[in-house]
Amino acid sequence: MNTQCPTCNKPTTKQYRPFCSKRCADLDLGQWLNEGYKIESEEESNLDEYEPG
Ligand SMILES: [Zn+2]
Repeated sequence: MNTQCPTCNKPTTKQYRPFCSKRCADLDLGQWLNEGYKIESEEESNLDEYEPG
């Protein structure tokens, strides 16, 4: 059973498993790091302060 690149769903290559290329590996790592740093955005609370008119 072939694995698919979690970034672009292309078939993976041995060299860059579980990704298809170094680019996808870097992308995924970047996303993972971003989520780690990401904290709930405070911008959402601003929606409540919106007053029409
Ligand atoms: Zn890929």
